[in-house]
Amino acid sequence: MTIHLMNCFTDNARWPSKLKTGMVCLLIESEQGLILLDTGLGLTDYAHPSKMTRMFRIITVMPFDVNEAAINCIRALGYNPEDVKHIILTHMHFDHISGLPDFPHARVHVHKREYDAFTDGKIGQWTEYAYIPRYLAHKPDFVLYETIDSKWYDFDAIRLPFQPEMYFIPLFGHSRGHCGVAIKTKTGWFFHAGDSSAVYDDTTPKWLINLVLGPHDARLRKFKQAHPEVLMTNSHMYPEFFDQHPTIS
Ligand SMILES: [Zn+2]
Repeated sequence: MTIHLMNCFTDNARWPSKLKTGMVCLLIESEQGLILLDTGLGLTDYAHPSKMTRMFRIITVMPFDVNEAAINCIRALGYNPEDVKHIILTHMHFDHISGLPDFPHARVHVHKREYDAFTDGKIGQWTEYAYIPRYLAHKPDFVLYETIDSKWYDFDAIRLPFQPEMYFIPLFGHSRGHCGVAIKTKTGWFFHAGDSSAVYDDTTPKWLINLVLGPHDARLRKFKQAHPEVLMTNSHMYPEFFDQHPTIS
């Protein structure tokens, strides 16, 4: 079992200009076939950017390099994108799902609360302006999860139907149904906290974390300190992270 870390969306701050990030998407070899965790920007956005992408190109610095599209990253790793059978989403903001149309035959796994927030047509919180309906125009086959059936450490967890063992960890706040994903590795665990924390960045002010990322950041930082056997990431990581961890097994 190998997990490949791919940067599928470089998005740098205009200020402070040293704040540079790539977006962590995972390609997971599982017994159920290749699994993609979050998609980054897809090919249609490079050809016809959505209004959200156009806005981010103004307020942030994006190289906008089509080689970063997940489908191209997967080809560059030597895999056939058609072998991606499943896509797991931490949540459904534009930068996490824009690549869904590039994998039209993959089943898409997401928390029901997130799917409902995306599809109910109501703006429940301001971050829901990042829901862009066109990425579901191909009508993907969704698998929705809601019932807590496990514990992962002291987190409530939902077992996902894959081997290696993996769980959705509900971390609502950044979006209505946002989840982290924990994946068993040979040496411990890999925990992708999505957009619910900035565990590697000590410069982001607390008010901004609470406003954008939701209420879990402090707990996740404590957890990371207490559990060195868990390799933790969030979605938007400093560029060197990808060189330090190209693969995990
Ligand atoms: Zn988000």
